[in-house]
Amino acid sequence: MSDVRSAIVIGGGLVGCSSAYYLCRAGWKVTLLERQRIGSGASHGNCGYVCPSHAMPLSAPGVVAYTLPSLFKRDAPLSIPARFDPGLWKWLLQFTRQCSTDRMMHAATGRNALLASSMSLYREFVDEESIECEWTDRGLLLVYKSANDFDGYKETAELLKREFEIEAVAYPGKAVKDLEPSLKSGMAGGWHFPADAHVRPDKLLAGFKRAIEQRGGEIREDVEVRTLLRDGNQVASVATSQGSLAADLLVLATGAEAPQFADAIGCRLPIQPGKGYSLTMQPLQKQPKIPMIFEEHHVAVTPLDSGFRVGSTMEFTGYDRSINPKRLALLRKSAAEHLEEPLPEAVDEEWAGWRPMSVDGLPCIGQAPGASNLIVAAGNGMIGLATAPATGKLVAEIASEHTPHIDATPYSLTRFV
Ligand SMILES: Cc1cc2nc3c(=O)[nH]c(=O)nc-3n(C[C@H](O)[C@H](O)[C@H](O)COP(=O)(O)OP(=O)(O)OC[C@H]3O[C@@H](n4cnc5c(N)ncnc54)[C@H](O)[C@@H]3O)c2cc1C
Repeated sequence: MSDVRSAIVIGGGLVGCSSAYYLCRAGWKVTLLERQRIGSGASHGNCGYVCPSHAMPLSAPGVVAYTLPSLFKRDAPLSIPARFDPGLWKWLLQFTRQCSTDRMMHAATGRNALLASSMSLYREFVDEESIECEWTDRGLLLVYKSANDFDGYKETAELLKREFEIEAVAYPGKAVKDLEPSLKSGMAGGWHFPADAHVRPDKLLAGFKRAIEQRGGEIREDVEVRTLLRDGNQVASVATSQGSLAADLLVLATGAEAPQFADAIGCRLPIQPGKGYSLTMQPLQKQPKIPMIFEEHHVAVTPLDSGFRVGSTMEFTGYDRSINPKRLALLRKSAAEHLEEPLPEAVDEEWAGWRPMSVDGLPCIGQAPGASNLIVAAGNGMIGLATAPATGKLVAEIASEHTPHIDATPYSLTRFV
């Protein structure tokens, strides 16, 4: 009898792929099931930032009072249309409770550990597996039009340095245009995080797919998991669109859709889909050198070797896949206000995806309270690309009962029981 243990990973986004990859490395016989194609969810068209700079969560003291008035503006980056959705209302209420200094710093510490570990794991992965994903080390630049907002960021920059040794360099006034000549004149300034990097997400996913298969994993696309069938405190089998399957271990990595398996998990995951958009086009004539976030609009741009991407906005509209042209227009408007060169009319792809937004800014990684052979890896929010490797490695360590390479407690599902 073989003593190789089998694992089914559900979901072929970056978190599922990374989990499958590290499980293969740990000696598991892995089958990854994906409803559509690898990278059909949020992992495909995101901005590609590998960003240790993003340690701070959204939940911060004062954020609700600051954000509320903007909800009534038509062109605000955050949109929460009024509709009957008790799950979302509960999530929003729980979110407001996270907005204390203590909760914010707890989340920041957990996020920083995942981000820092993922940065080194990515470097190893890209090098060892020869991954062609347009990896670029040029940092990330936060750009401000308002001098007040630019000066106001100093406090966060100092906190990041003090608590997590994350370096940010200030480029006031004209200095920011000297650093990034593609910007229009007249910006108030920018903060540059030199240690951040960026990639082309679809190429990264293709790299994961190849690496999993080379390490003996099986990838099955067009297989939808419908139910996890429990027997006692175990998931005995998985009912799919292609029949029933069983394995020693199940990993649930279905991103924003993970809460639908609450019965098998044994608790409700407070994760909401936060819809974001992107436009991908051919490189600009005056292509920026550095990825940038236009802070007042929360719009991000990514210069790729093979193109140019503008992304962002956050819509809480439930599990709605439609692409709202007004949100795409906001991306164009913001680019027009910041970049010298207008965006071309022709785009290669208009895209929307659901960020899996956990209520406390920390992902949910760990054994399910209701099933001892089920591990959940979901809720990586706005930093799922930047935290995927450490998430996947933790999954493999928990599954193999190895000492985790970082403290896994902050991500445990026991916080929801
Ligand atoms: C506009 C935008 C920009 C972003 N920019 C960045 C960035 O620069 N850096 C960063 O770190 N993060 C970024 N993010 C966030 C990042 O994209 C997500 O956190 C990440 O992709 C989540 O990965 P995931 O694998 O958990 O989920 P997903 O990528 O959504 O993968 C889940 C997969 O599960 C599959 N699935 C679901 N249900 C089933 C089922 N029942 N059976 C089988 N398969 C199923 C889906 O088809 C999907 O492929 C951005 C997000 C958006 C929207």
